[in-house]
Amino acid sequence: MSASDSIHDVDLFVIGAGSGGVRAARIAANHGARVKIAEEYRVGGTCVIRGCVPKKLLVYAGRYAHEFEDAAGFGWIVEGARFDWKTLIANKDREIARLEAAYGTNLARSHVEIIKQRAAIEDPHTVRLADGTRITAATILIATGGRPNRGLDFPGCHLGITSNEMFHLETQPESIIIQGGGYIALEFASLLADLGTRVTVVHRGDKVLRGFDEEIRERIAGELAANGVTFEFGVTIDAIEETPHGRRVLLNDGRALEAEQVMLAIGRVPNTIGLGLDAVGVELDMKGAVAVDARSRSSVPSIYAVGDVTDRVALTPVAIREGHAFADTVFGTHPWTVDHSLIPTAVFTEPEIGVVGLTEADARAKGYRLDIYKTDFRPLKATLSGRTSRVFMKLVVDQRTDKVLGVHIIGEGAGEMIQLVGVALTANATKADFDRTMALHPSTAEELVTLRTKDPSSDMPAPDTLPMHGEEPMVDEDAVESQMREGVPAAK
Ligand code: FAD
Ligand code: NDP
Repeated sequence: MSASDSIHDVDLFVIGAGSGGVRAARIAANHGARVKIAEEYRVGGTCVIRGCVPKKLLVYAGRYAHEFEDAAGFGWIVEGARFDWKTLIANKDREIARLEAAYGTNLARSHVEIIKQRAAIEDPHTVRLADGTRITAATILIATGGRPNRGLDFPGCHLGITSNEMFHLETQPESIIIQGGGYIALEFASLLADLGTRVTVVHRGDKVLRGFDEEIRERIAGELAANGVTFEFGVTIDAIEETPHGRRVLLNDGRALEAEQVMLAIGRVPNTIGLGLDAVGVELDMKGAVAVDARSRSSVPSIYAVGDVTDRVALTPVAIREGHAFADTVFGTHPWTVDHSLIPTAVFTEPEIGVVGLTEADARAKGYRLDIYKTDFRPLKATLSGRTSRVFMKLVVDQRTDKVLGVHIIGEGAGEMIQLVGVALTANATKADFDRTMALHPSTAEELVTLRTKDPSSDMPAPDTLPMHGEEPMVDEDAVESQMREGVPAAK
């Protein structure tokens, strides 16, 4: 069956109007396909409605607390600053409604018909809507995203909220216990602590952010603790009880903790239940995600899937790119696939984390001999603001080719920095390319191009790169200058 035909009602039926689905629908329609898209909740999906965008707005709100404190060192007298949760939530809701409408308008402009109903798949070319209507399509795209994992089955687990409900709390919790040590747990722990909530993170492991570079994992917990977040490592929640003032949490080590709210941030699960996939023969992986090939095609040739529902990399830009590649490939003239190997990502804690490429441990596991470059310093702004928070940067370099394999940053602006570092790594930049890039002074980012001294954790150099006998180590003016600027020796 061709992607476009006159046998079916439409050429493409998309289930789910989130990041991946909307992009796929618009691009396919721009290629001339007749497209309908079904959405059971709100157009825009997780990212726009209850993910990245509202989250980042809350993060900005939290950061003002630090800015007000910093201001005193710069001569500002800020008196009477007060935070009002209701104002923030109302303004956030207004912006989200505006974005939702804009997404709808864009789809309509591309002649994509939006159907505000739940959809399921009946056969390889038929979708059934909640009202019973059947629509046939040459191609069906599953872009149903994921939802918070509520899979724990302990007494009172229904008393815990998830990120979905966080965005709609009527009052700011005075205290909260957050279970989990991933992106969502840490971002909410950080922003809520900044806004004045007493936060306790309960995490089953001994370090947060599994999969991140070990030093980032250690440092971020210290930074968040310094901002008032309490960590309980190596424990899980056994039960949640209601109390007159909120919730009591029973931990598996026998202790009890109390807080106004409990949030479960223990991962997300793909939205594949109730879609009719079993009956149609769409294969799922162990986690219940749609199994797809590099072109996002499922085990049923007319059914494709993109975004979180495929559990490849659960990030918005990835879902968007997968949706775009799918639409170009199936309805356009230039097929292409998404490269998932080099994805910049940020954790919007305070301070922020930005990473791209391999961690030191992953690079070693892949057999690379490494040169490691690190810096850890107090940023210039902190000299007057008095903040204790430091900046940490780490470059993981392949000793043989000099290629930069990974960059890991904690500090103000880490997310913005890592987006641009991502350009360099995508272009296969070497450490020498970083070195010959002119620094921009005074900035935090300039440290990325002035790192000259290898960390002792670097592997022994290959014999042909050893310095000649008696050769003096190079004196690095850039490094000296940056140390002077910071007023403290950079621990390189
Ligand atoms: P979604 O955006 O989830 O869209 C799926 C849509 O399908 C939803 O609207 C849903 O209602 C609809 N749907 C589901 N089933 C059906 C059905 N049967 N019929 C009709 N409609 C259906 N990523 C980042 O890159 N940066 C961030 O800062 C970031 N922050 C996040 C913060 C939070 C709190 C969360 C939860 C996620 C965050 N993410 C972030 C992840 C990002 O939101 C997702 O990766 C992205 O939204 C995935 O897009 P998608 O199109 O696959 O799915
Ligand atoms: P993550 O996968 O990042 O983290 C889940 C956390 O929950 C881990 O710490 C995990 O522990 C823990 N956990 C899992 N199962 C259990 C359990 N049964 N009991 C106790 N703890 C458990 O998921 P999130 O929900 O935080 O976020 C989902 C995804 O959304 C992210 O992976 C990311 O892709 C995306 N996202 C991106 C953001 C961004 O770009 N800034 C922001 C928010 C979300 P362990 O480490 O031991 O496995």
